[in-house]
Amino acid sequence: MSNQRYGAGIWHFATYVDRYATDGYGPPRSVIEAIDIAGQVKDLSVVDINYPYFGGEFSKEQIKVALDRNNLSVIGITPEIYTREFAKGAFTNPDAGVRRRAHELITEAADQVRYFGADYVKLWPGQDGWDYPFQVDHGTLWKHSLDGVGQLASENPDVKFVIEYKPREPRVHMSFDSLSRTLLGIEKIGLPNVGILLDFGHALFGGESAADSAQMAIDYGRLFGMDVNDNYRSWDDDLVAGSLHPIELFEFFYVLRKNKWEGVWQLDQFPFREDSVATATHAIDFLKAAGRGLDVLDIDALKEAQSKHDAIGALKIAQKALFSSF
Ligand code: FE
Ligand code: FE
Repeated sequence: MSNQRYGAGIWHFATYVDRYATDGYGPPRSVIEAIDIAGQVKDLSVVDINYPYFGGEFSKEQIKVALDRNNLSVIGITPEIYTREFAKGAFTNPDAGVRRRAHELITEAADQVRYFGADYVKLWPGQDGWDYPFQVDHGTLWKHSLDGVGQLASENPDVKFVIEYKPREPRVHMSFDSLSRTLLGIEKIGLPNVGILLDFGHALFGGESAADSAQMAIDYGRLFGMDVNDNYRSWDDDLVAGSLHPIELFEFFYVLRKNKWEGVWQLDQFPFREDSVATATHAIDFLKAAGRGLDVLDIDALKEAQSKHDAIGALKIAQKALFSSF
């Protein structure tokens, strides 16, 4: 599929601080600088942008000018509902005033989505959850999660909201921790404009098969977006896509294509020590090879092998297609 579009979270082109390098792994960059760096990645056509815009006071018009000069458009807006103010949660914060503030911030993000003609508001409730036994009332926490998302979705029926689940970090246990739990919550909310953004690395981290998770999200009509990266499965390392789990990533893409899911293949990587343009380019080169692998995959032979649950037969077919495509 040669018209496949590629995207990235704009944070891929920022610099990072962690609890050790508190001076950062590089000088801070503004969102405008990050957009100009993203523009150097040849095959990138869309970005997901954090809101409020980082590194200064920028209007949406200024962001648009920077995007236009780099031939980029916006796929999603990610409201920062996981910063200091929301340390005890956004949707589930014990303070109703903070919950209201999260609601306001996400509502503003929905307006940015309308302005840019983006696909969705991305909800990443990384602080919504708990750390210790007995810390929270689990029923109340889950109810607040669903009420918060449901209210936004019903107030903004013209905008899609995607929930990106992950097992943990920064919260020791996140409320939206897995595909099945998130899907269950979305079905309970029961609105058409709430879906899932499936992060391949979060699925790995959670012990899921991303291919199986994608199939289930698609079967329920809820796969609204995806991003890819890689990790060692014990943490959300956000390493370059394809570096560790190429065959599982290939199966994930196979499921997308099999179901004619035609969204953007998006990068969510954190090149702490690497050059961000080289890292994104390397990942997209891998994704393109995976796409060529899908083109040459012997589907009939694969289906035949799968009909018998023939593991070695199926692997041979998949490995031949993927590894001959580089
Ligand atoms: Fe992600
Ligand atoms: Fe992540």
